[in-house]
Amino acid sequence: MSDSARKIGFVSLGCPKALVDSERILTQLRSEGYDIVGDYPDADLVVVNTCGFIDQAKAESLEAIGEALQENGKVIVTGCLGAQAEQIRQVHPQVLDVTGPQAYEAVVNAVHRHLPQPARAHDPFVDLLPPQGIRLTPKHYAYLKISEGCNHRCSFCIIPSMRGDLQSRPAGEVLEEAERLVRAGVKELLVISQDTSAYGVDLRYKLDFWNGQPVKTRLYELCEALGSFGVWVRLHYVYPYPHVDDIMPLMQSGRILPYLDIPFQHASPRLLKLMKRPAHAEDTLARIQRWRELVPQLTLRSTFIVGFPGETEEDFQILLDWLEQAQLDRVGCFIYSPVEGAAANELPDPVAAEIQQERYERFMEKAQDISRRRLAAKVGQSMRVLIDEIDLAEGVALARSAGDAPEIDGQVFIEGAGAGALQKGAWADVRITDASDYDLYAELQA
Ligand code: SF4
Repeated sequence: MSDSARKIGFVSLGCPKALVDSERILTQLRSEGYDIVGDYPDADLVVVNTCGFIDQAKAESLEAIGEALQENGKVIVTGCLGAQAEQIRQVHPQVLDVTGPQAYEAVVNAVHRHLPQPARAHDPFVDLLPPQGIRLTPKHYAYLKISEGCNHRCSFCIIPSMRGDLQSRPAGEVLEEAERLVRAGVKELLVISQDTSAYGVDLRYKLDFWNGQPVKTRLYELCEALGSFGVWVRLHYVYPYPHVDDIMPLMQSGRILPYLDIPFQHASPRLLKLMKRPAHAEDTLARIQRWRELVPQLTLRSTFIVGFPGETEEDFQILLDWLEQAQLDRVGCFIYSPVEGAAANELPDPVAAEIQQERYERFMEKAQDISRRRLAAKVGQSMRVLIDEIDLAEGVALARSAGDAPEIDGQVFIEGAGAGALQKGAWADVRITDASDYDLYAELQA
């Protein structure tokens, strides 16, 4: 650390996609010689990367800006909420600058304006940047953003108006980033975007190059190439289109993880239409069944919205029945709440808050029941897990299996002989000894 370097504090809020944005901004600032510090008082200026997806996230973002202003005083705001600059300025007129989502250059320029580096601060030692960039996730896993924006117009979502239409990154660029990450010790790549199944559509699946080899900018080819790194590759935000069937053989052969995160959001065709969901006309149960025939070990995760305007008891029952049949492994659920600027706000027949709550509870009860049964069926199985943390006091290692994405899914608790001596970020082979509603318990395999 150089004494003359300017010091930036950074607060990163929101989803994994926002985290990737934060990593890019930090990488850029660090490469220019700024120091990144962990405390408000140590910082010369604080950047807050906000989330504006739902009203609660907005409130949290505004609160974080307030805290940074109080603790430090010099604050630049960026990220999704940055698209609504007037709102931020209304609550916090003291902020120095507001830039929108994906505006890496704009936020870095704002930092230059408000905190220029002294002329002599440039120092080759300060400029040394780890080649994989700065990551906010633990060293052994990393999010890999393959595109920005979205071509859909789901009625409850304002992401397309904030982030624009789909813009895929050429396959060669994504693969280069993945290669750098793996070389730096990453064992698990989490592929993210707003719509992973649409990857490359905007570029007409353009042929790109990676290590001198031609590679198409398309989901299948990308997964095939990512699978060659010998690390876990986990797909998030995939929609149930027919072409997703094509990647099943890559899961079956172990090239990528047998895991799919598909935000179904609902199952009633009428509601899906009101939500304007992609692939709303697909027979999702038939598709899930086919996938499971091809890849029996497949883990399916999804999120749902209950209490959407116009949702009747019949629609909700369709959802519950669908869930019982689909037997999804991992499920999250949100109670619908309006987002400023979303088309769904114009829909009639809002669902009363008590009914929303009651449906949420009935839904989660069913999801929990399914989760418990599916995890219980794993007791006695042997599997490879990735160690996230060691609890030395308890002599327990916290790990994840192929079926658990970090932060959103369950964990595998490794207990007994040798567990405390495991290393964070290492693989371990375990035997499952017990299961609870959402987690597994295991012992190291002899
Ligand atoms: S698919 Fe729908 S919910 Fe997802 S980002 Fe696009 S518009 Fe929003």
